[in-house]
Amino acid sequence: MPPEPGARTALVTGANRGIGFEAARQLAATGLNVVLTSRDPGAGEAAATRLRSDGHQVDYLQLDVADAASVERWMGELTRRGIHVDVLVNNAGVLLDEGSGVLDLDERTLRTTFEVNFYGPFRTSRLLLPPMMERGYGRVVNVSSGAGSITEATSYSPAYSVSKAALNAMSRQFALATRGDVKVNVMCPGWTRTDMGGAAAPRSPEQAAETIVWLATLPVDGPTNGFFRDRRPVAW
Ligand code: NAP
Repeated sequence: MPPEPGARTALVTGANRGIGFEAARQLAATGLNVVLTSRDPGAGEAAATRLRSDGHQVDYLQLDVADAASVERWMGELTRRGIHVDVLVNNAGVLLDEGSGVLDLDERTLRTTFEVNFYGPFRTSRLLLPPMMERGYGRVVNVSSGAGSITEATSYSPAYSVSKAALNAMSRQFALATRGDVKVNVMCPGWTRTDMGGAAAPRSPEQAAETIVWLATLPVDGPTNGFFRDRRPVAW
C-alpha cells in the first residue's frame, strides 16, 4: 500500500549544511519524517539536533555517496531500522574545478567529481527506486545545475558541468524505468549563498530549496522526467 501523506519519509544526502540542510528543514516543516544524511557523522548529528530542537521529526544516518561500502552500510541500516524512503533528495555535490578550463582538467579531478555528483545519485536511486515502485509511491529529486544543461553550459567548470550533464541523462533513464506514482525529476537551485556558491550569490538557501520541496511533494498528476528551476522547465 502506498504510504499515507502523514507517514511519508524523505531522505536528503549531503544535508549537514547548505541547500541540503535547508531542504531537510523545509521537508520536515511540511510534516514529512526526515532522514538527514551526511558523510561526516559529527556534522550530520549536529545538523539533525538543530532541526529536532525546532520540533521536527529527524533521524540521522551516515552516508558518503562516493563510497560504495558506505552506501551498502547505509542501505543495511535503513533496512535494519525498518525505514521506507518515499522521497529521495540527491543533493550531495562537489565543485572541484571552479574556474579551470577543460584543457587543464586532470583525470583524477574528473573521477572524484563523478564519484559524488554522478555515481552517488546513481547508487542511492538504484537501491531506493525498486522499493518505491513496490510500494506504489516515490519522489526522487536530483539536485543538478544549469551547468549540467548542454544548452546553458559554459566553459567555467568542465568536470562539474559534465558530471551534472551525466546526472541529468541518468535521471531521465531512471524516470523512464519507473512505473506507478513514482517520479524522478532534476532541478537547478540557481546560484546560491552556500560554501559552494559563495557569499556573492544572489539566492538564499531558502529560495534554492523551495523547488526541491515542490518536486518532493508533487501530486500524482505532477510532472516526471523534467528539469526545473523555480518550478519552470530548464532546457536540457
Ligand atoms: P555545499 O554548501 O558545498 O554543500 C555540499 C554538501 O554536499 C555538503 O553537505 C557536503 O558534505 C556534501 N557532500 C560532498 N561530498 C559528499 C559525499 N561524498 N557524500 C555525502 N555528502 C557529500 O553546497 P550547496 O551549494 O549546498 O550544494 C548543494 C547541491 O546544489 C550540490 O549538488 C550542488 O552541485 C548544487 N548546486 C549549488 C549551487 C550553488 O550556487 N550553491 C548552484 C547549482 C547547483 P561535507 O560538509 O562533508 O563536505
